[in-house]
Amino acid sequence: MRINEIFYSLQGEGCHAGTPAVFVRFAGCNLKCSFCDTAHEAFTEMSEEDIVREVSRYPARHIVLTGGEPTLQLTTSLVDRLHAGGWYVQMETNGTRPLPEGCRLDWVTCSPKDSPVRLTHIDELKVVYTGQDMTPYDHYEASVRNLQPCDTGHADENARLLKASIAYCLDHPDWHLSLQTHKLLNIR
Ligand code: SF4
Repeated sequence: MRINEIFYSLQGEGCHAGTPAVFVRFAGCNLKCSFCDTAHEAFTEMSEEDIVREVSRYPARHIVLTGGEPTLQLTTSLVDRLHAGGWYVQMETNGTRPLPEGCRLDWVTCSPKDSPVRLTHIDELKVVYTGQDMTPYDHYEASVRNLQPCDTGHADENARLLKASIAYCLDHPDWHLSLQTHKLLNIR
């Protein structure tokens, strides 16, 4: 598998924010979002055994499979190995690809982009807010809906989007505000 990096930190975003977690970042993505803030192309080739050995170096039992887009490479056997080792397995995905046959994840965070979502089960919908029309997200079924202001790299625009996100959540209380707390805390 092409792995961009494996590192240990606090989950910064969404429902599990603050949870110590081992991040497995898969290299490569099938989309090219203009606001993408992740350098995910570089990679080291790793076997499933290599990945399990590497994540075992850390004390947390929460894994975040992320990317890039993890479903481009994810296997049921990797997830089964992680479950066998006692890990809780969360995946962050753009949702454009189905899971491999028989793959069971503990928590699926889907952040839809401009491409159709093909996932059949979403625990957490996480929408990056740039002020877009929110009605296309109404039809998604998910336990939690998180609205996360886009980090544009410009302080004034970020402040405007934060204010707009708060206002949207207050007007639509089925949406929760998600912040990129790892950036606020200056951690990975
Ligand atoms: S789907 Fe995510 S990782 Fe892929 S290009 Fe878009 S923001 Fe980047």
